Amino acid sequence: MLNRHEVFEVIAAVIADGGSADRAAVLAVTVEGLRDRALRQGYVIGDSAADSVEKVIVAALRPVDRVFRVAYDRYMVVLPHMRNEQHALLAATRLSQAFEVPVLDRGDPWRGRPVVGIALHPDHGSDPELLCRRAELALEEALRQGGQHLVHGESHDHAVISYEELREAVESNRLDTFLQPIWNLQTGRVAGAESLARWTSPHRGEVWPGYFVPFAEQTGLITALTNWSINATLRHAAALNHVPDLKFAINLSPRAFNQPGLVEKLTGALGIWGVAPERVIAEITETALVHDLDQTVSLLRRLRDRGLGVAIDDFGTGYASVAYLSKFPATELKIDLSLVSGMHGDARAARLVSGIIDMAHHLGLVAVGEGIEDGGTQSLLAEMGCDFGQGYHLGRPVPAADFVARCGGGNRV
Ligand code: C2E
Ligand code: CA
Ligand code: CA
Repeated sequence: MLNRHEVFEVIAAVIADGGSADRAAVLAVTVEGLRDRALRQGYVIGDSAADSVEKVIVAALRPVDRVFRVAYDRYMVVLPHMRNEQHALLAATRLSQAFEVPVLDRGDPWRGRPVVGIALHPDHGSDPELLCRRAELALEEALRQGGQHLVHGESHDHAVISYEELREAVESNRLDTFLQPIWNLQTGRVAGAESLARWTSPHRGEVWPGYFVPFAEQTGLITALTNWSINATLRHAAALNHVPDLKFAINLSPRAFNQPGLVEKLTGALGIWGVAPERVIAEITETALVHDLDQTVSLLRRLRDRGLGVAIDDFGTGYASVAYLSKFPATELKIDLSLVSGMHGDARAARLVSGIIDMAHHLGLVAVGEGIEDGGTQSLLAEMGCDFGQGYHLGRPVPAADFVARCGGGNRV
């Protein structure tokens, strides 16, 4: 067990290393069930359970992340190089997922439930002690509310989305589909679009998908959300059937992979809307790849067999091993915006992206650069041979009807 001062030193080093513009997250984590196990079965078993929990936490995170046990049933986690709050929430979601299978301890399985409080540098402070206190306060608040993750400073109302409200919005088709254009960087023409969900709640206003998608994943609403997203996207794709080379990318959450009949649902919806499977790309994050290798590979293969494209999303966020890549029946590699947005004016970052593009091509994959925010990055990617690109500089996500209106008349530049 470490004392908190040692953790402060690690946080200070991470902050010094990353520079003032680099985000880092501090997570305070407790695992419900751990204390109970020690009190009921003895401290020796409790200690061994705490060690097993630490291993599960470490395995769920990236190699650069650091995990410290600071009290009987409490851990502090330091995550360097976070691109935003959502990135930290993704790590917290991964922690929750890792505990979905029982912890195996001395051959004896038991269930633990992690609860996480999050504070970000520089958003919530730059002093390590303050960041730790804010992460722990967020954890206390999460425990009080019975939630799973809470970011410091989030008001109760905003942080906790109501299950009923989201379920209602999904089931009564009150989410909106936005489409963000994807450009062919070599020809300078729009090649298709990625479908992104938007939710304007009557009580909370605009809710970011960075919140409601992980919430849907945690609460089982992801099946309904995925079905909604497939149908809503294909409805707009169908309106552009007369422009058959436009492709539509749909995000499939790793959780959607566990739902039976996903492939049938997708192909059924293609039939209903009369959209050719070759015009649809299923985007899955690296996270899904590491979650259940065999199941994911077989599902992706079935999608490919039916003619759909498969894109590996957010590549480079660090959760999947490069060695995994060659095993996946993917057609595209989407290079994460954290890599792409840093490359202009940074020769090393640019070489890394160039290497990833070459690697994608060697593996027979099409390379897509995400998060292109300026013309310099766009030209650099095009020079490097990157096939497709997406980002605010090329076009922000717009209501699907606007995209259809723009492309339906053949206006593709
Ligand atoms: P993603 O799949 O990586 O989607 C790209 C995100 O990057 C979008 O955020 C988009 O608005 C944003 N983006 C695009 N260009 C730029 C740029 O130049 N700079 C910056 N800084 N950002 C850019 P958005 O719409 O907030 O979505 C966040 C995430 O939520 C998505 O990340 C995706 O994982 C998830 N998501 C959104 N809609 C759906 C959905 O219908 N189903 C599922 N399962 N997930 C969804
Ligand atoms: Ca995506
Ligand atoms: Ca992405």
